[in-house]
Amino acid sequence: MHQKQTDIIIIGGGLAGLCCAIHLGKNGIHTTVIEKSVYPRHKVCGEYLSAEIFPYLAFLGVNFTDGAIPIRRFRFTGITGNHKEAELPLGGYGISRYKLDHMLYETALAYGCRFIFETVKQVDFKNEKFTIKTDTETYTTDLVLGAYGKRSGIDQYLSRTFIRKKSPWLAVKAHYKGDFPSDMVGLYHFPGGYCGVSNIENNTINICYLADYSSFKQYKNIKEYQEYVLSKNPLLGKVLNESDMIFNAPLTISQISFEAKKPVVNHILMIGDTAGLIHPLCGNGMAMAIHSAKIAAELITDYINEDLTRTTMEKKYAKQWKSHFGKRIKTGRFLALNLQNKYITRFLFSLINVFPGLLSHIIRKTHGKPIFVKV
Ligand SMILES: Cc1cc2nc3c(=O)[nH]c(=O)nc-3n(C[C@H](O)[C@H](O)[C@H](O)COP(=O)(O)OP(=O)(O)OC[C@H]3O[C@@H](n4cnc5c(N)ncnc54)[C@H](O)[C@@H]3O)c2cc1C
Repeated sequence: MHQKQTDIIIIGGGLAGLCCAIHLGKNGIHTTVIEKSVYPRHKVCGEYLSAEIFPYLAFLGVNFTDGAIPIRRFRFTGITGNHKEAELPLGGYGISRYKLDHMLYETALAYGCRFIFETVKQVDFKNEKFTIKTDTETYTTDLVLGAYGKRSGIDQYLSRTFIRKKSPWLAVKAHYKGDFPSDMVGLYHFPGGYCGVSNIENNTINICYLADYSSFKQYKNIKEYQEYVLSKNPLLGKVLNESDMIFNAPLTISQISFEAKKPVVNHILMIGDTAGLIHPLCGNGMAMAIHSAKIAAELITDYINEDLTRTTMEKKYAKQWKSHFGKRIKTGRFLALNLQNKYITRFLFSLINVFPGLLSHIIRKTHGKPIFVKV
């Protein structure tokens, strides 16, 4: 089949960027990824990977299950420690980003993807060409995918609306040794935030929480905050007390925004968190990031095979992005807001007592169906 000669640069080599590079590589389309950090590296993330994405990862040839921990059950706890457990409708795996991203990086290399380790500062589009500037170099290309995650200086450069609003959310994550049921992912609410706990490879527990900055800044350090705020939820206090951190210090990130974003900006197809981030309590931001990479890779393949124009490709991408993820992101926002209210949570627990299937129903609302690829 005749293919249009097209240079493609993907900015950011996280889950979305790497999966898109692999998918395009499988279709015989070579890409360049510009990534600011080297692999392997830890990332702030709950590290629970939802099963909806497994068939697609299998299509990409990524066998991540070796050593990863199968997770089948969900423990949901309110601020006061009231709790419920449920079978996860689809389930998932616990796997560190250190391992997963590195595995994807190696697969992308095997498919001929080129990597440049620099930080992108500017992206411009003129006369059907993009110009990308890093600290040291300037690159020109035909297509650009924005896969640089939740927040970057590029968002400022592109004057994206969400970047102007301050976000109250910060996140903290570390790996621990301890005893936590291996097939369980726990979601523990505490005043001003919530914490995810699950097992990952090498008998390690990942503990990662999202916290409101105004409450966080009242404490001297993370240790004190965990002791006085997270431990108000007695079940979470118990998990923390009975686990020993193996990182030298926890990783932190701030200004995490859950505001609506646009999936296409200045002709750049935004994939993963760059297009929108679901509240982590839903446990499927990674699956969504990877799914958006699949949508983009398929449309770009059609564009290169001259079945689509640039304008149609952009319109189709925006439409598909909205139909797959728009409602889920809104549901996540609604849940995150309401589960901070102890009266609403108490009411929810009494409803779950009467309708035990309700918890699974809510989980289904924030997740997609398994993602297969027609071959
Ligand atoms: C606290 C928290 C807990 C979470 N827990 C879970 C969970 O348990 N399960 C789940 O499914 N999801 C979870 N998520 C969501 C998940 O982490 C994200 O949805 C996922 O990482 C998105 O992948 P991505 O590829 O879009 O972005 P990222 O993985 O963030 O990748 C972006 C990449 O771009 C690079 N980059 C950034 N700026 C530049 C630049 N200017 N130039 C070059 N490179 C750049 C970065 O170095 C990075 O490698 C959680 C999120 C948070 C905040």
